[in-house]
Amino acid sequence: HDYNKDDIRQMAKDENVKFLRLMFTDLFGTIKNVEVPISQLEKLLDNKLMFDGSSIDGFVRIEESDMYLYPDLSTWMIFPWSSERGKIARVICEVYTPDKEPFEGDPRNNLIRVLDDMKKAGFTSFNIGPEPEFFLFKMDENGKPTTTLNDQGSYFDMAPMDLGENCRREIVLTLEEMGFDVEAAHHEVAPGQHEIDFKYADALEAADNIQTFKLVVKTVARKYGLYATFMPKPLAGINGSGMHINMSLFHNDGNAFYDKKGELELSKDAYYFLGGLLTHARSFTAICNPTVNSYKRLVPGYEAPVYVAWSGSNRSPLIRVPSSRGLSTRLELRSVDPTANPYLAIAAILEAGLDGLRNKIEPTESVDRNIYRMDEEEREENHITNLPDTLHNALKDLETDTVMRKAMGSHLFQSFVEAKNLEYNAYRTQVSKWERDQYMELY
Ligand code: ADP
Ligand code: GLU
Ligand code: MG
Ligand code: MG
Repeated sequence: HDYNKDDIRQMAKDENVKFLRLMFTDLFGTIKNVEVPISQLEKLLDNKLMFDGSSIDGFVRIEESDMYLYPDLSTWMIFPWSSERGKIARVICEVYTPDKEPFEGDPRNNLIRVLDDMKKAGFTSFNIGPEPEFFLFKMDENGKPTTTLNDQGSYFDMAPMDLGENCRREIVLTLEEMGFDVEAAHHEVAPGQHEIDFKYADALEAADNIQTFKLVVKTVARKYGLYATFMPKPLAGINGSGMHINMSLFHNDGNAFYDKKGELELSKDAYYFLGGLLTHARSFTAICNPTVNSYKRLVPGYEAPVYVAWSGSNRSPLIRVPSSRGLSTRLELRSVDPTANPYLAIAAILEAGLDGLRNKIEPTESVDRNIYRMDEEEREENHITNLPDTLHNALKDLETDTVMRKAMGSHLFQSFVEAKNLEYNAYRTQVSKWERDQYMELY
């Protein structure tokens, strides 16, 4: 929406908005809120609202503890759930330093910077269509998630098998009230697992949408006594939750990935972009799969990718070219999971693709056979490498990739690598039940 200040003032008044929730996203992809009463509206509109950034993850720099929040007016939205005390509106903000410069540690500012580079390269937008999956667990009396799933349904099941249906329906209706264009909603393969797809949007809006989406899913689930989690692999032995990312570049003449005369009707640019994605796939994994748990999803047998390869037909590889052509010609990256910070993940993916375009990187041959049936030798012959198998190994690949450093900017890159190494070490020094079950009595 193209709102100006007067539109905002009018909507706030007409709808009796009492609180403003100013949102931004930290390094780890967590939404941060600063809530102020409506009396602060003018200050906000004048870019004069300050907050203390020193306690925000990834923002840590003492000299920059006082930050400004500049509202992106196009993200203004009144929450459909109201409180007795009046309505709450949210607006997503850009974080600015006391010198009124965009703060480099703000993942959203960083994405804006990378999108500017894309525009300089001659494209008008980077379209992102995400397919987030999540689980609904029963909640205990303290509002904590249990490990009891909400249903025993399976792919595309209908009620009464799918008890999540009412909850999912309300999520969809709420999203629509908030302006989302929901394309599909269905039960996923695993019990208690769901997917809701909404229409692609330009990268920045898409990342904002992903953040709003998670908030809506969690809020509505609570009303049903359910706990929604985007954790990639909450239970061993069943499918995990991914967030496939569909993507395409548009230029003034439409979809830059489409060429009626090209091989598979894909343009030269689509192939170079794909080449860039494959080249940097191992190193952007730490960004797209940023938790210890992410790597428990990326294992054979659960529809999640394990190998770096692409295909125009089958679904098992990392990158798939869905069959639609014309405006919806796109690449689908299947490794990403919903714990990724969408601003960082999209910036990394875009920079990888732009690197392919700049350096005219030809992709490896497509692999249209089931990779999981190949042995190591056959995979080698087909130039198929593995995705990193742990956060530790993923970080090692990330740390040496200068294109990824550029994608995040030095500030974010450094804080990310540092924080994630700490996270891995914290995990590594834990002793799990599995280890005790395995070794206690044996030795
Ligand atoms: P799948 O084939 O994996 O089931 P879906 O049909 O569920 O894929 O999801 C398709 C997603 O791709 C939607 O979010 C849709 O809006 C998005 N999409 C469609 N066309 C484009 C495009 N040109 N660029 C990026 N995303 C697109
Ligand atoms: N849940 C699967 C994953 O972990 C994806 C299933 C699908 O193809 O939609 O990525
Ligand atoms: Mg799915
Ligand atoms: Mg998909």
